[in-house]
Amino acid sequence: MDAKYDLHSLVEMKKDHPCGNNKFEIVRMGADIKIKCTNCDRTIMMPRRDFNKRLKKVL
Ligand SMILES: [Zn+2]
Repeated sequence: MDAKYDLHSLVEMKKDHPCGNNKFEIVRMGADIKIKCTNCDRTIMMPRRDFNKRLKKVL
């Protein structure tokens, strides 16, 4: 799946964040993608291919 997303898109991932939330905002796009948990504001950085694998849907 190659979903359409961009900087500041809200996304749902296949796995919940440890805080129990499952909504993230894309805060950096590049070879690596950085997402921020909308509940606890912690950020996660991962290679784009991993992001594509873990992405459930774009909100
Ligand atoms: Zn969180």
